[in-house]
Amino acid sequence: MRLDGKIALVTGASRGIGRGIAEALAQEGAKVAVNYFGSPEAANEVVEGIIASGGDALAVQADVSDEQDVTRMINQILDRWGRIDVLVNNAGILTQSHLAEMPTTMWDEMMRVNLRSAFLVTRAVLPGMLARKQGRIIYVASQLGLKGAPDLVHYSAAKAALIGMTRALAREVAPHIQVNAIAPGPIETDMVAGITDDWKAMKMAELPLARFGQVREVAPTAVFLASDDGAYYTGQVLGPNGGDVMP
Ligand code: NAP
Repeated sequence: MRLDGKIALVTGASRGIGRGIAEALAQEGAKVAVNYFGSPEAANEVVEGIIASGGDALAVQADVSDEQDVTRMINQILDRWGRIDVLVNNAGILTQSHLAEMPTTMWDEMMRVNLRSAFLVTRAVLPGMLARKQGRIIYVASQLGLKGAPDLVHYSAAKAALIGMTRALAREVAPHIQVNAIAPGPIETDMVAGITDDWKAMKMAELPLARFGQVREVAPTAVFLASDDGAYYTGQVLGPNGGDVMP
């Protein structure tokens, strides 16, 4: 298996894309810390599924935008497994508003959950990776960080920042640690289910592949980037996006 013996942390792994990535990493032999915020039952279900398939996993509660929570989460994982080899920063939220009417609280929450979290978790995990001179960091950004979309200026800005972070950190921690981003197109998860029908219709009309994607069409990209197969990739943005963005 491609990730035998590796220890991975996936943030926001109780549902959606994070869950799919956690399960796919575990299928390749990684032990996986399944971070969740408010869905303990869902996180436990992911962990039980991995264990039932012969793998090893641990559910870890934390609001990844909260510094103390992040410290507690990382210590919990280090107590259990001693190190983290693969970090997938996936946790995120999506809200919608025209910018002219956007409350400051909505902007701030977006930056806190979708961007500050990536800084806090990465900073907590990096010292161990630097000391061992190995590690993989993957950010789940979005094609909207490249393309933008109406009513999602805050979301697009946070995701574009993750892409900037990917490129800058990739240079900072080279040559031993590889840092990459995945920028998915619209994927059928709870997040997309919450978007307005008008927005979904507009997005569908733009998509060359004429359908929204599935979680199983994103997770293999994370496995690839975490494995030896992805060893020559750093600072890259891979796009399972149905052709919506062709950089
Ligand atoms: P989702 O189904 O809504 O799941 C979101 C996950 O993030 C849940 O596991 C949730 O945990 C967790 N989470 C939210 N806030 C958190 C916090 N403060 N601390 C820790 N965990 C938190 O979303 P998704 O569609 O899978 O999206 C996952 C990532 O992919 C996000 O970064 C999103 O922006 C990105 N993305 C999604 C799409 C798409 O079309 N779906 C496209 C491009 C990029 P709890 O349930 O435990 O609260």
